[in-house]
Amino acid sequence: MKARLLSGKEEAAAVEAEVAARVAALAARGKAVGLATVLVGEDPASQTYVRGKHRAAARVGMRSFDHALPAETAPADLERLIDRLNADPAVDAMLLQIPLPGGLDPLPFIESIDPAKDADGLHPENLGRLVLGLPGLRPATPSGILRLLDHYGVETRGAIVVVVGRSFLVGRPLAILLGLKGRDATVTVAHTATADLAGLTRQADIVVAAAGRRGLIGPEHIRPGAVVVDVGTNPTESGLVGDVDFVAVSEIAGAISPVPGGVGPMTIAGLLENAVTAAERHAEG
Ligand code: NAP
Repeated sequence: MKARLLSGKEEAAAVEAEVAARVAALAARGKAVGLATVLVGEDPASQTYVRGKHRAAARVGMRSFDHALPAETAPADLERLIDRLNADPAVDAMLLQIPLPGGLDPLPFIESIDPAKDADGLHPENLGRLVLGLPGLRPATPSGILRLLDHYGVETRGAIVVVVGRSFLVGRPLAILLGLKGRDATVTVAHTATADLAGLTRQADIVVAAAGRRGLIGPEHIRPGAVVVDVGTNPTESGLVGDVDFVAVSEIAGAISPVPGGVGPMTIAGLLENAVTAAERHAEG
C-alpha cells in the first residue's frame, strides 16, 4: 500500500474528548445531556448503527433514550413520538435513523423535528443555514469528512473535488460546505446520470465516494496521488466494505480513508458534537 491512511479513529477520539469535557461542564451546572434515537423497523445494519450511537453517547457521559418502533408503525404514531420528544426537556437532541422501512419518505418526519434538537442537522432550517454559511447544527457525515481532511492537512482551497452521490444526507451538503468561502474547493457532484464517471473523477484532487455501491471506484477512477474519501458502507458476508476498491486504489492514491474506521467514527463524533451544542443552547435558555 502506497497511499497514506486517513483513519478517523484518532481525530474522532479527540472530538469525543472535547465533547465529554463540554458534557461534564454542563453536568457541573446541573444539566444532563440527553440524546434520543428513533429507529423504525428491524433492519440489522440500522440496528447496529443505532447501538453504536448509544455506546458513543455513554462514552461521553450523555444520557440516551432508545425508541425502537415496529416496521408497520403508522406515520401518525411516528409523528406523535417526534412531537413528544420535541416537548421533552430531558431530550436535547434526537435523530431519526434513515432509511425508513418500505421506502417511506423521511423528509416530512425530519421536518417535524424541532430544529434546535436536530442531532443529524438535516432539518430544512439547518440545511438552509448551511447553504447560507450561517452557524447551525451541521449534518454529521459531511462535517466529519471536513474534519478528517483538516486533521491530515488536506488542503481544500483551490482543489478540484468530485463528490459521487447527491443525497441530502451526504453528497449535497458536503458539496455545498466544500464550496463555501473559506473552504474554497471547486466541486462537481456526480450521480447515476453522470456520463463517464471515471473520466470526471480522474480530474479530481479529492474524490469522495458516497454512492453506497460496492466496488464503484477502482484505480481507473483515480489520478495518481489524489485523495480518496470512502463514505460507502456496504454490508458483505465478511463485514462492511466501502464504495472504493481499497486494495487496488491504495496503490495509486496519495491518501485513502478505510472502511470501517474512516468516515464512520467521524460521523459519530459529529453527531455527539451536535447533541452537546444543542444542550448548551438549551441550558442558555
Ligand atoms: P443514497 O441516498 O442511496 O444516495 C446515493 C447516491 O449515490 C445517489 O445520489 C445516487 O445517484 C448515487 N449513485 C448510486 N449509484 C451510482 C453510480 N453507479 N454512479 C454514480 N452515482 C451513483 O445514499 P446515502 O444515504 O447518501 O449513503 C451513501 C453511502 O454512504 C451508503 O453506503 C451509506 O450507508 C453510506 N453512509 C455512511 C455513513 C458513515 O458514517 N460512514 C454515513 C451516511 C451514509 P442518484 O441520485 O442518481 O440515484
